[in-house]
Amino acid sequence: MELKRLTERVFYTMHSKEADMPVLGYINGQKYSLMVDSGNSRRHVELFNDSITNKGLRKPDFIAITHWHWDHTFGMNAVEGITIAHKKTNDKLAEIAKWKWTDSEMKKRLEAKVEIEFADTCIRKEYPLLSEIRVTTSDISYNRNMEIDLGDIIVELHHIISPHSEDCICILIPQERVLFIGDAVGVDYYNNCYLDKDKLRSLITAIKKFDFDICVMGHAEPVSKPDILNIMNSLLDR
Ligand SMILES: [Zn+2]
Repeated sequence: MELKRLTERVFYTMHSKEADMPVLGYINGQKYSLMVDSGNSRRHVELFNDSITNKGLRKPDFIAITHWHWDHTFGMNAVEGITIAHKKTNDKLAEIAKWKWTDSEMKKRLEAKVEIEFADTCIRKEYPLLSEIRVTTSDISYNRNMEIDLGDIIVELHHIISPHSEDCICILIPQERVLFIGDAVGVDYYNNCYLDKDKLRSLITAIKKFDFDICVMGHAEPVSKPDILNIMNSLLDR
């Protein structure tokens, strides 16, 4: 897994379609460093940690989660830093932490439509031993917004309205003009891939207001601000 440099202080590792690994971010502050999302497993966290230590960077002190979906959160138990998630993300994770990870329990959740086929397939790919799955809530939770001072650089966490999930947050690094948006620009896979256009309009308004040059999505290459606005507008016209 290769760590790519986006700006002076901001890095990311690419997503991988096999077993659905999302993009992970890294913000290198003078005093602390912050990781964006915890990845889908211990393996993903280890690949990420190897890529940052290879570049001579330290392991993250903080890990900020963009939303509850398994591929962004199941690595939370394997990171060494302090994990931070929105209250709504934590509520959902607290629910999932009670789930049992056996073949039959997973099949039951699919039948009950609590879980979706895509996640089930990818989870089985990433975890040949289902018993290794550990789901935890974060160390710190917040409502609305949060600001973290990494020493010489500020990271802002903003809860936003998104058609993808109720708990989506954006991570803005004003100094570097970078915005991490996780999967916020996307349909709701847990509601028959429904696209709530009112929520998408709210998201477009919110993203327009953020001052940034580069937008990092959860499962794609980074894009410019005009490009992400175009992507959202074409989704709106669909
Ligand atoms: Zn997602």
